[in-house]
Parts: sequence; C-alpha cells; structure tokens
Amino acid sequence: MRVLVTGGSGFIGSHLCEALLARGDEVLCLDNFFTGARKNVAHLQTNPAFEVIRHDVVEPILLEVDRVFHLACPASPIHYQLHPVKTVQTSVVGTNNVLDICRRTDARFVLASTSEIYGDPQVHPQHEDYWGNVCTTGPRACYDEGKRVAETLTADFARQFGVDARIARIFNTYGPRMRPDDGRVVSNFIVQALRGESLTIYGDGSQTRSFCYVSDLVDGLLRLMDAPAVNGPVNLGNPEEITMLALARRVVDVVGAGELVYRPLPEHDPARRCPDITRARNWLSWQPRVSLDEGLVHVVDDLRAVVGGAR
Ligand code: NAD
Ligand code: UDP
Repeated sequence: MRVLVTGGSGFIGSHLCEALLARGDEVLCLDNFFTGARKNVAHLQTNPAFEVIRHDVVEPILLEVDRVFHLACPASPIHYQLHPVKTVQTSVVGTNNVLDICRRTDARFVLASTSEIYGDPQVHPQHEDYWGNVCTTGPRACYDEGKRVAETLTADFARQFGVDARIARIFNTYGPRMRPDDGRVVSNFIVQALRGESLTIYGDGSQTRSFCYVSDLVDGLLRLMDAPAVNGPVNLGNPEEITMLALARRVVDVVGAGELVYRPLPEHDPARRCPDITRARNWLSWQPRVSLDEGLVHVVDDLRAVVGGAR
C-alpha cells in the first residue's frame, strides 16, 4: 500500500510512519514542520520506501495514494493558541484539501480527531454518541471547533462523494519524541523533574485526564484503517483516569525528585476526561496494553537523553 501520513514528522505521526514501514507499506510523510521535526523521522530516511514532502496542507496538492492518515495539526494548547487562525485553517481548509486527494484517488481516509471535540464534557466517561460541550469563541475553540468541522467534512465527503472516511477521536497520548518544550502535561512534568525544577500543577490538580501510550494509539489507528467497514467515529484512548496531582506524584516517583508548585488553571480547561472505548473494543478488537507506570519510564528515558538530569 502507498500511504500518506500528513503531520508525519510530528510526535504521533513519526511513530505511525515507523509502524507502516515495518509492515511493508510505502510511506509519504507530508509536513510543514510547524511543530514536527526532521529529526523525528531522520532514522527512516535511508529506507527507500520512505519519502518526506515539505508541504502545508492549507495549500492543495496532487498525490497518488491508497490510504491517508490525516494528522497535520498542532496538538499542544500552547502551540495552537499561539497561532489560532492558522490552526482553524489547517483543520478546515487543510482537511478539505486532504479529503480531495481521497476523493480523486479513491483512497481510504482516517482523520486524527480529538477528545477535545467533547469540550468540557457533561457526560462521563465520554462515548461517541455524546455531542460535546464546546465554547465557540474561547481560547481552545480554534482547535476544538476546527476539529469538529474536520469531522463534519469527513462525514460529508463520505455522504456526498462516497469517500471511505473514518474518524479516530484520540485522547491524551504520550510517549518518546514528545518535545521538551511542548507544554503538554506529561512532558512538562518530566522535564521539570529532570531539571530539578518544581512541577507546575495548574489549578488544584483535581482535573483528570487518561493517558494512552503511543504504541497502543498507533495500533488503534492501524486497526481503524484496516477494518473492512466502520460506521461512526471511534474513541482511541486509555480508560485509566488520573488526576494531574496524582500524575505529578507518579512522575516524581519515576524520576526520583521534584517539588510541586501550584499555578492558575488555564481558561476553559476541561475538568474531567476519560474515554468509553466499548466501540473500539467491539469494532476493532483494540484495547491499550501499556500501563502508565511502564510508559512513563520510557518517556523519562527519552527526555533524559534530550534535557539531561541525574539518574
Ligand atoms: P504534533 O504537533 O507533534 O504533530 C502534528 C504535526 O502536524 C507536526 O509534525 C506539524 O509540523 C504538522 N503540521 C501542523 N500544521 C500543519 C500544516 N498546516 N501542514 C502540514 N503539516 C502540519 O502533534 P501530535 O501529538 O503528534 O498530534 C498529531 C495529531 O493527533 C494531531 O492532528 C492532533 O490533533 C491529534 N491528537 C493528538 C493527541 C495527543 O495527545 N498527542 C490527542 C488528540 C488528538
Ligand atoms: N497541566 C498542568 N501542568 C502543566 C501542564 C498542564 O497541571 O505543566 C494540566 C492542564 O491544565 C490540563 C492537563 O494538565 O488540565 C492536561 O494538559 P495538556 O496541555 O497536556 O492537555 P489537554 O488540556 O489538551 O488535555
């Protein structure tokens, strides 16, 4: 199969490219390097089945492919809030352009959507039939509403043009190759602990998230693409829910050092988030396998190699 991965040099995209090559696919990795980095895929460059295309999905492009994983979009709140208008354009115009490739070439499409489409959820855990609670004008709206329109475009390209298009609602994912300056909680806490700085708990730390290790997530994305037919969005995430305070304490345990300090809670920060993965279990025979304790050890090792820190 000839597979296009947009956002392929990002954190999740680089692991996905690796997995596709390992199973014998030909991979086109398309990226504008906004938040991704060439070094994430540098080890794949000697593989003749791998090609990097520097391109911004907001501009149309003609490519011949069989499958498309559409991941191009900044994912960290600090990155998307720095360029909110570009983030909306990436999700809306970019997704339209990438779906056009599928319409023309009859390629199957998987959208990397997000648990953020549920906003600050009033239903817990979140199942796919819940429509969400999202503010249209808040600081997270560029990402949340952008992805909601991306989902709408995906459903409508399927409805109107017959594109075989699927939607993965990805919950918080972590793993090696997260940027140390990414601003997301797992990398932030680990980098702070490794540098001997205080771990910054936003608010009182009672808000929850559920963290999926990247190899589990990639396995879910591949299963979603390979499934013969899928009739609706699918949550992909780890249902082990944890407060940010408990996460900080786990990181302190793994790194072996670290104080906690409290900072203001960002505006519209969701209070609780946990996936109902019944659909992924039933439709894809998928469930996460890597525990948070095991995954954190891998990320600590990876970030220690980048930022240093005592063992
Ligand atoms: P990331 O920032 O590491 O990767 C995104 C990639 O997209 C980067 O390589 C970036 O350079 C590229 N990109 C951004 N805008 C682009 C554009 N206009 N044209 C071409 N390339 C562009 O983030 P990630 O964590 O790997 O996330 C990948 C996808 O998964 C995103 O779509 C994100 O919304 C989704 N997602 C991630 C998480 C998570 O916890 N990591 C959770 C939910 C959804
Ligand atoms: N968070 C925190 N300290 C940090 C970074 C984040 O307490 O240094 C909190 C943040 O307020 C949120 C949770 O951790 O409640 C997850 O934040 P992240 O930016 O990783 O992802 P998202 O909010 O998009 O789920």
